[in-house]
Formats: sequence, C-alpha cells, structure tokens
Amino acid sequence: MMDAESDALHFLDDDADGVSVKEPVWRLMVIDDEPDVHRATTFALSGVKILGRRLEFLHAYSAEEATQMLCKEHDIAVVLLDVVMEREDAGLKLVKTIRQDFRLEEVRIILRTGQPGYAPEIETIHDFDINDYKTKSELTRTKLYATVTAALRAYEQIRKLDELAFYDRLSKLPNRNKFLDLADARLQAGHCENDAIAIVDIDDFSEINDALGHQQGDRLLQSVAERLKTELGAEVILARIGGDTFALMGPASVMEPVRVLSLFRQPFQVQDDSMVVTATLGMTRQLSADIGGRDALKDANIALKRAKKNRRGSYVVYSSEMGSDIRERVRLLQNLRQAVEAERLFVVYQPQVLLGSEEIVGVEALIRWRREDGSFVPPDRFIPLAEASGMIVAIGDWVLRMACHELKRFQGLGLPDLRMSVNVSQMQFRHPDFMQKLESALQDTGINPRQLELEITETVAMEDADFMLETLHSIRRLGISIAIDDFGTGYSSLSHLRQLPIDRLKIDRAFVDELTQEVTGGHIAAMVIELGRNLKLTVIAEGIEEERQAQQLRQLGCHEGQGYLYAKPLLPDQFVEWVAARKQSQ
Ligand code: C2E
Ligand code: MG
Ligand code: MG
Repeated sequence: MMDAESDALHFLDDDADGVSVKEPVWRLMVIDDEPDVHRATTFALSGVKILGRRLEFLHAYSAEEATQMLCKEHDIAVVLLDVVMEREDAGLKLVKTIRQDFRLEEVRIILRTGQPGYAPEIETIHDFDINDYKTKSELTRTKLYATVTAALRAYEQIRKLDELAFYDRLSKLPNRNKFLDLADARLQAGHCENDAIAIVDIDDFSEINDALGHQQGDRLLQSVAERLKTELGAEVILARIGGDTFALMGPASVMEPVRVLSLFRQPFQVQDDSMVVTATLGMTRQLSADIGGRDALKDANIALKRAKKNRRGSYVVYSSEMGSDIRERVRLLQNLRQAVEAERLFVVYQPQVLLGSEEIVGVEALIRWRREDGSFVPPDRFIPLAEASGMIVAIGDWVLRMACHELKRFQGLGLPDLRMSVNVSQMQFRHPDFMQKLESALQDTGINPRQLELEITETVAMEDADFMLETLHSIRRLGISIAIDDFGTGYSSLSHLRQLPIDRLKIDRAFVDELTQEVTGGHIAAMVIELGRNLKLTVIAEGIEEERQAQQLRQLGCHEGQGYLYAKPLLPDQFVEWVAARKQSQ
C-alpha cells in the first residue's frame, strides 16, 4: 500500500507530447482563510522541483473544509496551516485532528500566522509534531522553498522508516503492526457495526515451500497478495500478518467468507507454473468501537483455529461463546500451573478386585486437583488442557513416580502384592524420553516391573500402528503390563487389536451403566468380554456401582472390576485402612 517509489504516491499526468507519462509528485495542502495567501504560496513555488519531484497543491479555506478534504485525500506530504481562521485557535485544533483523529503521523505541518507576536506553546509544537513555525511575511520564494524542502526531506525519511517498521517487504502490504494501527483507527472512527475482520491462512504453505523452494513460495505469496488486493478493492484493509496469513478488515458485505475463499478457486500463476492452493478463514463480525484491533484479531484467530480443526479450506465466524470458552481455559491453565508449583495436585488410589472372590488385585492411580478454597477440579476438565499445553508430560511423569513410590510403601506396610495401574496420555507416550523416564522410575523406586501397569486409551492404541507396536513391545520387555482403557469407545479393528502386545481390556463405564438397561443389539460389555476371551486377554470393568452390574459381569465371564460398589478412589492412608478393614471382615 505504501511503497515510496511506486503505487501509493500520487502521480501527475504529464501529456506534454501526447504520451501520458505518470510522474510522482509531492502533495502540499494549503489551509488558510485568506485567498491571497493561497495565491502567494502557489506562485512562490510554481514550477519548482524539490527532491526530484514537482509539487501538487490542495486548497482549503477553513479548518472545516480541510477536515473534510483530509477524510478523502491521501498521501499529503506537507500541510501549510494558518493558525487563526474561523476561530482564534482553529489551526491548532486542526493539528490535533490531523494527528489524533486521523492519525496522520507522517504528514509534516508548517504553521503560519499573520500576527508576528503570536506563537504556540513549545509543548504544542512538540506534542503535535509540528515541523516549523513561520510568519506570513516569510512567504518569499527562497524562504518558502527552504522550509518546504526541509519538511519534504523529513517526510521522506519518516516514510522510509515507517515502511521498514510497518510494511511487509515481500508483498508491499501493511504488516501486523500497521494492520493493528489501521484497524484501531477505523474502529475508533466509529460506524464499524457492519465491518468484519478476517484472517486468511494458506493451507499447507510450508509443504509448498519445502517442495518448491522458498523463492517459489515467495512468488506464490505475492501472487496471492496481488489477487486479494485487486479483488477486494480499496474498501478493504489488507495486510500480511504472518508467513502465510493475511488479515482483512472491511465491510462484511464485501468480505463474505465464501466470496473470499472463492478467490482461491482459480490457480495462481507463479512464473511458468499454475499453482492451486486453498485457504482457511476465520472471521469476526459486529465490531464496535470498544473492542481494539488486537482483540478483534485475536477473535478472528480463534475462529481460524476452529476452522482449521474442522477442515482445511473452510471458514468459521467467531461467536462470543468461543471466546469465553477459551478465556476460561486460559485461566484454568494458569491456575493449573500455579497448582503444580504449589503442589496442590495429589494422587488417589481406587481398588480393583476379582469379580468372583472380591479379592483385591490392584489399584488405579488417579490424579486430583484441590483448589485453595477446597473445591476440586475434575480431571476430565484439566487433563485435556494439560495435554493441549504439553504440561501433561511433567504431570504424568510425576504421577508415575508418585504411584511407584506409593506401591513400595504399601508393600512395606505388609499389604498383599498389588498391581499399580497408571494412566498414560498420548503425548507422554509419544515423548522421546518416555521409555527412559519409565526405566528410571522403576530403578529409583525399586518396584517390581511386573506390578506396574500402564493404561492407554483405545484411540491412542489404534493410532500409528508401527510406532505403537514398537513402543508397546519395549514396555512389555521391561515386564510392565498394558491395559486398554475406555475400551469400546474407539474404533478398534480386530486385526489391529490382535497384533498389539496387551494384557487387559478395560470396559468403559458407559457400557457398565448400559448393563442395567434394555438395549437393542446386545450389550457392548458382553461383546468386549467375548472379544477378550478370543484374544486371551483379561477383562476389567470400571464404574461398577451396583451389585446387579457386578453379578451380570460375572455371569458374562468378566474377570475383574473397579467402582464405587467396592471403593471410591482413596488417599493412600484411607486405602491402607480399607484393606485392613476388609481383611477383618473376611
Ligand atoms: P479413567 O482412567 O477411565 O478413570 C476412571 C474414572 O472413573 C475415574 O474418574 C474414576 O474416579 C471414575 N470412577 C471409578 N469408579 C466409578 C464409579 O463407580 N462410578 C462413577 N461414576 N465413576 C467412577 P476420574 O478420577 O474423574 O478420572 C477421569 C479421567 O481422567 C480418567 O478416566 C483418566 O482418563 C483421566 N486421568 C485421571 N488421572 C490421570 C492421570 O494421572 N494421568 C492421565 N493421563 N489421565 C488421568
Ligand atoms: Mg484409567
Ligand atoms: Mg476408563
């Protein structure tokens, strides 16, 4: 949008010899209520070239008229401004309008006054970045020429600096900072209820870059920028805010998501290649003056993330519920971080029993988070968050060590040999250090690996067959057993399941609940138990709350069970008491 050498400048048609040659000019605006001053100024500067360019004049005869012109006109380099016009301070007020309301920070302002004695405060000159202050008697050609030249030189320098700071060199579009400035200005000017802000992200751009080289990638970006610019028109502010992302702000009617995405339908001509790319779009609408550009862009980005999650090449329009959702998650994540530091996380242990004899065979370690006010945050809420943020790696490692340590303590207290089940998240499992951490947890606590079991969910188990097989085999080589948690909720293929080196299937709580209901097509729990029998795997049912369920499961041939019917997850000492109490009653 602003390239000192080319498009953003204004050009003068110079068709002296019949050929229209466009020549860059400097635009000067003369604001004065005395027509004589206008005449004298243009006369004094007529025909001169300054820093290689001719001058073009704009004339306003009051502050009011000037304000209206400034709304429409662009690229004014210098304003020659009369101080006293409609009112004593009309000129100074106008300076404020130029700098604060229009945010025209580049334009150089030369104040002029008829009264030699009058001068604005030094602070005013400083605060509003007024370039020069002259009396009208200094309107001679030489003096004016020198003043305007100095102002233009300053203007050019400011523009060059701005260009570096605010424009993307590749696409010549505004960058992120400039976009935020422009967006803020537009929002503050009001009447933006029908405006929208969108982020357009080119799909798989890094793959294109890798496959065809950066140069070709750059050309593609230029080509995309060019098309967006020409098709969306001057009403839309267009910026490149990231490697392969563009931001747009303009009337929602011009920026209909479907329309913007359809601009990608035609291939892009990149040198000799015709390249087909798609883009994904996130948008926020119904903007208002009290939302800043930064926040609006954030909202558009939230929508973009959703769109990417759904499907590349699609779009999502932001709704406030998305934001509160995310803000809530961000807050929760911060609290979780503090909770980890303040050691407000702890582990509880839920017994697992043989369904026939009700003899205790193991415990499952389950994490708990107690807030400072004593309330609990359920793991179903914070575990996904810890997973998304990567914190689960550290938390999971801590649970593992804690559980091993506790197992050792239980043994020291003379409890029967138990199996300790620990839940392992996808992300932990995939972490390159996982095996090493597992081994050092075993070593440091000195437990028998045969007493340790890892629970992974069915969905994790079914992903990336080769990787899974290898890792599961390594775990089993250590002597550790493996259970598939929440079984029945994923989509295991039997052939895949058959290959996996696993020990136990854990029937999801939902299917235990279902046992006491009439369902068509048979109970899933029954199918899982049957599957376990075929694959020679032990089956454990979780979430058993009623004797009726236990009985049914027993009849179906389920081996083990866990649930409130036997015990809730317990603190270590409570668990020790629970074991002792059962021994007595037997
Ligand atoms: P999960 O591994 O399937 O754990 C079983 C859940 O069922 C636990 O919920 C347990 O408290 C609950 N439960 C057990 N018996 C009953 C019952 O009879 N009735 C009912 N209604 N619920 C019962 P919890 O502790 O809220 O944990 C939820 C999930 O959070 C776990 O599901 C597991 O996926 C995850 N989780 C818990 N601790 C950890 C951990 O240390 N690491 C990882 N990665 N995930 C964990
Ligand atoms: Mg579990
Ligand atoms: Mg489960």
